[in-house]
Amino acid sequence: MTEKLFYTDPKVFEWDAGVTSAVFRDGLWHVTLDRTAFYPEGGGQPCDMGSIGGKEVIHVMKEGEEVIHILKEKPERERVHCQIDGIRRIIHTQHHSGQHLLSAVCLKLYRAKTLSIHLSMHSATVELDVPSLSEEQLETIEDEANRLIHDGRKINIFFINRKDAGRYGLDKMPDGIERLRIVEIEGVEYNACAGTHVRSTSEIGPLKILKTERVRGHIRLHFICGVRLFQDYKEKLALLKDLFGKLAADQETVLQKIEKMKMELKETGQKYNALFDEYAELLTDRIIAGQKGHLAAIIFHDKTMKELSVITHKLLQKGMKAAVLGTSLENKIILSRNGELDIDCGSIIKQYAPDFSGKGGGTPSKAQAQFPDSDKLNEFFRFVAGHLGF
Ligand SMILES: [Zn+2]
Repeated sequence: MTEKLFYTDPKVFEWDAGVTSAVFRDGLWHVTLDRTAFYPEGGGQPCDMGSIGGKEVIHVMKEGEEVIHILKEKPERERVHCQIDGIRRIIHTQHHSGQHLLSAVCLKLYRAKTLSIHLSMHSATVELDVPSLSEEQLETIEDEANRLIHDGRKINIFFINRKDAGRYGLDKMPDGIERLRIVEIEGVEYNACAGTHVRSTSEIGPLKILKTERVRGHIRLHFICGVRLFQDYKEKLALLKDLFGKLAADQETVLQKIEKMKMELKETGQKYNALFDEYAELLTDRIIAGQKGHLAAIIFHDKTMKELSVITHKLLQKGMKAAVLGTSLENKIILSRNGELDIDCGSIIKQYAPDFSGKGGGTPSKAQAQFPDSDKLNEFFRFVAGHLGF
């Protein structure tokens, strides 16, 4: 059986081993070694990646007590040099020990039991059996976890017989395993776990809860720690630097600057609306002058629906009985009428728009519809104009 180096020393990233079997199955090589540091996927921890004899390992899994390495190519020799991706291992290890600590703190402070966990290179999560936690409680949890990290509590790993489990107050135990691997955080908790762990809580590095989400009536915490937290910090700093550059601001002035921009944008919007109103006055005069009856039908190419709404309103105010205005900018149409004309705009849209792949609705006096493209918009526009006798 394979000697599992990841059980005894989480920092073995390179070693020599003998290939004990190599079986070709479904287009891939299933390789076993006499000793391996490749952690197989399990217990919420993803597998290690790396190489065996220079050939890339694409997956590692457990089959009974055996560790199976999956490769696209077969290692050429029987004695091989093996390597795992050290950063990937460190991040998973820190996240795993960080998860044990965080789960223990949630239980101790708020009786919030961990229901499930997920570890990845990006972040880690714990789902707790409580419906919610306040911002204050989350901060207390984070502070307590970081206090225990600074404390440098030893993390011990040892094996016990299943019958002795009661002494360690174990909550969850893997089925059908006689010898249990115990991960102890000194003075905090015992946990039956096969994953890789750091030797002291200080090696977890700083821990940060990023966000929470509601799942199945429970709360799920997303967190990062150690190397991943540092990566994330660098990414965030680069983002801030970019943002500050674009806004010509710094940490002290950025919020002020954004507030000022929002104000300016609001003022500009108000000025634009006033100017558009004046323009719509002139435009509607021109439309009415060029229109024979009391019906207006036009397709615009550069107007928004909000602008069409203003134009429609003015046309009806100035005596038009009905208006059909479309915009190919948004592939939408607006149909409206004043009190003199007895048509139901909402019904017309509801009844006929689907024939042109459109959808919409509204009231008897005003309705609108959306179409998938300008061809359908134009077809519907011609149909409605004809239908109303334009
Ligand atoms: Zn674990």
